[in-house]
Amino acid sequence: MNRDELAIELATRLAGRDLFARLALVADKVPGPIVFTTSLGLEDQALTHAIFSQDLAIDVVTLDTGRLFPETYQVWADTEARYGRRIHGLSPDRARLEQLVARQGINGFRASVEARKSCCAVRKVEPLRRALAGAAGWITGLRAEQSPDRALLDLAVVDAAYGVVKINPLFDWTRERVVEFVRHHDVPYNPLHDRGFLSIGCAPCTRAVAPGEPERTGRWWWEQNDKKECGLHGGASMATHGAGAAPSGAAAMSATSGELEKV
Ligand code: SF4
Repeated sequence: MNRDELAIELATRLAGRDLFARLALVADKVPGPIVFTTSLGLEDQALTHAIFSQDLAIDVVTLDTGRLFPETYQVWADTEARYGRRIHGLSPDRARLEQLVARQGINGFRASVEARKSCCAVRKVEPLRRALAGAAGWITGLRAEQSPDRALLDLAVVDAAYGVVKINPLFDWTRERVVEFVRHHDVPYNPLHDRGFLSIGCAPCTRAVAPGEPERTGRWWWEQNDKKECGLHGGASMATHGAGAAPSGAAAMSATSGELEKV
């Protein structure tokens, strides 16, 4: 079975299963190493729970940009303590990072979109390439309702840029459903979510959003365009089968911080 056929089969078979069954199916069907890249945000914590609680043979990796919130490092440590498994941290290449900082300054990413993308390329994209080298499957926490571009994905697609089948087990989930899952299973989560941070990335590039604001609004908020991506998620082909489209509740995408405070 080639990559395209595998993506179509997975997209079809993942639909209609709960999250635990989705991850178990992926671990069983993908013929080769599977990597899950976690940002330690809410969606990724739900996926981590489904992977670790079933002791699945999936490598859980995080991109340690060096600019994460202290709260993010704490939830990383708390998660390892809870499940007794390591989350592998990948740091930026030292020489490239030193060149970047020498060239643009420590906070030079604010100068322009190009400067910001250069920083993301060094701190995130290059480490991601290392994380996915040799992998057959890449699991992400992307959801359709997070952005119009993400809505074009599916439960499983081919990512030609990285040469993997990219699996998005939460593609058709609402944020409210993720919140409920984390609450129900008492999964460790980043307390910044309770302070209005819906999407959490690097500290200098993330802010809280107001109730009702789209969640990606809090990322690189000083930029004017609506494509708030860091270059990690650009290479996947459009959906060919499976869930296929954003859930109907997409307009009501942002669970407020208050909902998480009930967790
Ligand atoms: Fe750099 Fe900000 Fe991108 Fe992090 S999110 S890698 S600090 S530009």
